Amino acid sequence: MPDYSYLIVGGGMTADAAAKAIRVADPKGSIGLVSADPHPPYDRPPLSKALWKGEPEEKIWRNTDATGAVLHLGRRITGIDPRGKQATDANGATYGYSKLLLATGGTPRRLKFDSEQIIYYRTFDDYRRLHALAREQLRFAVLGGGFIGSEIAAALRMAGREVVMLVPEDGIGARVYPADLSRSINDYYREQGVDVRTGEGLADVRPRGGKAIVKTTSGKELPVDIVVAGLGITPNVDVAEQAGVHIDNGIVVDELLRTDVPDIFAAGDVANFYSPALGTRMRVEHEDNANTMGAAAGRSMAGQGKPYHHLPFFYSDLFERGYEAVGELDARLDTFSDWKDPFTEGVIYYLKGGRVRGVLLWNVWGKVDEARKLIADQGPFTAERLRDRL
Ligand SMILES: Cc1cc2nc3c(=O)[nH]c(=O)nc-3n(C[C@H](O)[C@H](O)[C@H](O)COP(=O)(O)OP(=O)(O)OC[C@H]3O[C@@H](n4cnc5c(N)ncnc54)[C@H](O)[C@@H]3O)c2cc1C
Repeated sequence: MPDYSYLIVGGGMTADAAAKAIRVADPKGSIGLVSADPHPPYDRPPLSKALWKGEPEEKIWRNTDATGAVLHLGRRITGIDPRGKQATDANGATYGYSKLLLATGGTPRRLKFDSEQIIYYRTFDDYRRLHALAREQLRFAVLGGGFIGSEIAAALRMAGREVVMLVPEDGIGARVYPADLSRSINDYYREQGVDVRTGEGLADVRPRGGKAIVKTTSGKELPVDIVVAGLGITPNVDVAEQAGVHIDNGIVVDELLRTDVPDIFAAGDVANFYSPALGTRMRVEHEDNANTMGAAAGRSMAGQGKPYHHLPFFYSDLFERGYEAVGELDARLDTFSDWKDPFTEGVIYYLKGGRVRGVLLWNVWGKVDEARKLIADQGPFTAERLRDRL
């Protein structure tokens, strides 16, 4: 049985960031990484953006092996024994550890229908499959108007494919953007040739004559070749739960990213942490958090931890438009939109009780740190105080 000073369960961006930080903090300690993915760690954001715009696949690899970590790929940990300090994978192999990191991320939510023609988009293999299919003259249905749905619909359309998008809400990104911005994105997507159906969910998918027949909630039937589902993720907490770790919307960690079980840490999409800036616990499913929190967890495991007080930012691309954002972006909050050019360039502030909770920088770049300062400021803020601020 290999016995590692540091055992990382998971092989995503968080795992990679942790391995690199451990290596800096502890040049000698042995690192083992066990990942259910058959590929070594890679960047996920390009899977729905840059790779569709011609970036070569070689660019996504994170070269985790340069840390000297031993990578056990295509292996899923199914049990952890915190007393015996060992983990077991689905093949029965065991791995000893002194410190263990759970960086297990999330799994796409699935539909209740089983079909070979549905892709739950998350991994490099999903990208390869969809990218190959997009070379053929096929018709695609994209379910969901969130981050993955909106990016994949754009990617497929840019590849010249016919795309119908089912968005159960009133508009693309309706849970995040103010209603007028969301409506303008519907229009923008339609201008780009996406058949956007708002207020339409999926009722059924059936194979018929080589096609997938998508039945919508309003009873329409849409024959397509492939369905791509972007329905969000659920955190992968099974192994943690089995090990007796406290779970509450993800794996609960303290500010040094420790769980309540000795020597077990968690970070990334799966971890629920306290954000002093927002005064609440949260789980963040974005790249900056994966990188920053993964590194913080690595340092903490190596005995050089500092409280994780980072307020992560995130970003997305929608055809030629894009944004960076930080804090709480919830369309139910009060918003103030400070447009330079309506729906094309501007800043949207999300407010609660006179304080800024979140900032959406719509085609505005390089202002994330200033936005963070506004969120940290007690305010009170009014539209007048915020106008032309960023
Ligand atoms: C297509 C796509 C585009 C994205 N674009 C953006 C973007 O533009 N901006 C942004 O901010 N964020 C983006 N994100 C989100 C960002 O990529 C995630 O927040 C980040 O990848 C999370 O990293 P993670 O390592 O915590 O989790 P994951 O990436 O989910 O990695 C978890 C890893 O753990 C492995 N695993 C799970 N369970 C086990 C187990 N029991 N045993 C062993 N291994 C296990 C999995 O195989 C996987 O390797 C995107 C995500 C996707 C999928």
